[in-house]
This record gives sequence, structure tokens and C-alpha cells, in this order.
Amino acid sequence: MSALAGHLIARIAATGPMTLADYMRACLLDPRYGYYATRDPFGAAGDFTTAPEISQMYGELIGLCLAQNWLDQGAPAPFALAEPGPGRGTLMADIWRATRAVPGFHAAAQIHLIEASPTLRDAQARRLADVPVSWHESLDTLPDTPLWLVANEFFDALPVRQFQRSGDAWRERVIGLRDGRLTLGLTDPAPRVELAHRLADTRDSDIVEICPDAPRIMAAIEARITRHGGAALIVDYGGWRSLGDTFQAVRAHRFADPLAAPGTADLTAHVDFEAIAGAAPRLAHSALTPQELLLKRLGIDARAAHLAQNLSGAALEQHRAAFHRLTDAAEMGTLFKALALVAPGAPLPPGFDPV
Ligand code: SAH
Repeated sequence: MSALAGHLIARIAATGPMTLADYMRACLLDPRYGYYATRDPFGAAGDFTTAPEISQMYGELIGLCLAQNWLDQGAPAPFALAEPGPGRGTLMADIWRATRAVPGFHAAAQIHLIEASPTLRDAQARRLADVPVSWHESLDTLPDTPLWLVANEFFDALPVRQFQRSGDAWRERVIGLRDGRLTLGLTDPAPRVELAHRLADTRDSDIVEICPDAPRIMAAIEARITRHGGAALIVDYGGWRSLGDTFQAVRAHRFADPLAAPGTADLTAHVDFEAIAGAAPRLAHSALTPQELLLKRLGIDARAAHLAQNLSGAALEQHRAAFHRLTDAAEMGTLFKALALVAPGAPLPPGFDPV
């Protein structure tokens, strides 16, 4: 049994079943035993890998995309260049390197990282040692300035609650105990106003997910972009409107049982981009864009060919594999999607179409 399992079992025995969101929060962020709080999970030796860790091309293209939009919106100075959930700091490091030739961009940018894990803050400080950076616990303390924000695989790490339809009411999926072990159960059915709109597109026993932290995060982004301009670029796996159980655990690059050994696997859920956009109603949003399409429009073919010129042997093979991984439909190309949000009337970042 993991150290955290004992604590969670005692907590449930004392106070009753917990929501999936409370379980995810404890597993990921518990200061002593949480997954992100205690380790660096990325890379071949870790549990999973992400687009910025796969290839420098990803951060370079995203960086130029943000910088072009900053120019298109009149190059305001100063502005916040923000990233929630920056992992190892690789994406921001690649953004920073790629944008150094953009006139005025570095002088105007103030980098703000929002990171809950002390271990990953240390990794970010090492990776960004030469770059002026400040850290935040939440987006609420971002400065009241124009904001260009990128969130890559951040929203999928936020806790979700799950509800199963029962007639016109909903039963919440909760974690309780059976024979002293963690087990999934269902509450009694109750009406849910926040799910009223889902009665139209679901049937009995369908499962829907909500992300309770998303509204506050999107409100912080919306407030700054509506007032001062900027853009938010959100990339993650998921779709437009969630349906079904997408709660999953990954350990050592394989799916695992999310209730076994809490705190030792990455727990995620697919991102419901409709809910994200809906939580910032005063912003205009782009069409939801598959990662492959976005990266092609931003010029990944030319960038990949250019980098390949100086590579040979194993390094060239690795570069080709990374390109394939980022763009192929069977890999990240279509599962991952990007959404851009801007103030109404402001130009969208390159690579994005209006809805
Ligand atoms: N963006 C990175 C890392 C993705 S993993 C990449 O693409 O490689 C998720 C990141 O979000 C980690 O840095 C994790 O510590 C952070 N995180 C998870 N929940 C968070 C929260 N509630 N507040 C701030 N950071 C959080």
C-alpha cells in the first residue's frame, strides 16, 4: 500500500466517501505524498512525456505564435508572459530562446509561472536560471497587465468530478471503502442545476465530468485579457464537450488502475474545451484546432527540415520520430487540441481560425 493510501483510507473511514476531485487533488498535490509534489515525472525514465519534452520545435513554434500575436496587438509593454503548470520549464525556455530576435519582446515580457509543486519549481528555476522569472501559487496573483498565456497539459491535471445520469437526476461517482480498500461508489440521485444543460445530450447512465477549478482560473485570465489585451493558448487532450469517463492513471508510460497506489501515478482527465471557453464568456475563442493542423500552419515542416540538415545517424532518427509523435494522427496529432482566446475584435494568434 502506498503511504498516501493509508491516509486516504483513514480519512474516508472518519468522514465518508470523497469526490473524485478531492481524491485527484490529494493524489497529485498532497504536500508530503502527492505525485507532482514529490517527483519529476517526465521523460523516458519517468511516467509520461509531453510535447515540449518531445522536441524543441514545439516551444519554438508556440513562442513565435505568441510573439506574432503580441506584435499584431500593438506590442504592449510591459506584459505578462505566463504559464500555468510549466513542468520542467522546457516550454518556457524554448519560447524564450525562439523569441529573442523579436524586437522589444524580451524587454517587455515579464515571465510568471504558476506552479503548485516545490519539486517542479526547483526544476524550472534550474532550466530558466538565466531568465528573470517569478512564481505564483495561483493565477489570481498575476499582475493586472496585458497577458499572453500558454497552458500545455495543465488543465488535464486539474481534478474532475464525475456524475452519472439517473433519470433526470445525477449520482456522483465517489471513492469509498470496501473491505478496507478504496473503491468507486455512487451517491443517491439528486438534481444538479449545473448539469441542467446536459439533460439534452445525455442518456440514462451516461457519465459527464466537470472541472471545479476551471471557472476561477478562466475568470483570472478573462479579467486581464478583456481589460488590457493579450491571448490565452490552451493545448491539451480532450474535445468540445465531455462525455464519458476519461479519468485515467498513467505510470511508466502505461495505463494503470487509478485507485491502486494513490500518489504514485499521474492522474488526468480529458479537457472539456467547451466548459473552458464557457467559463470566459467575455472572451472570443478560436475554433478548436488539432495539434497537427496548428503545428503545420505554424511551419513545423520547414523548421523540421532546417533542423534535420545538421543531424545524422541516431540524432536524425530521433528528430524524425519526434516530428512524427507531435504531428501524426495516430500519436498526438489529433487527440491533442488547441484553443486560443482573445478579447472580442482582437486578432487571433497565427494558426487559429475564428469559429
Ligand atoms: N506543461 C508541462 C507540464 C505538464 S504536467 C509540459 O507540458 O511538459 C502538469 C503541470 O501542472 C505540472 O507542472 C504540475 O505540477 C502542475 N500543476 C498541477 N496542478 C496544479 C495546480 N493546481 N496549480 C498549479 N500547478 C499545477
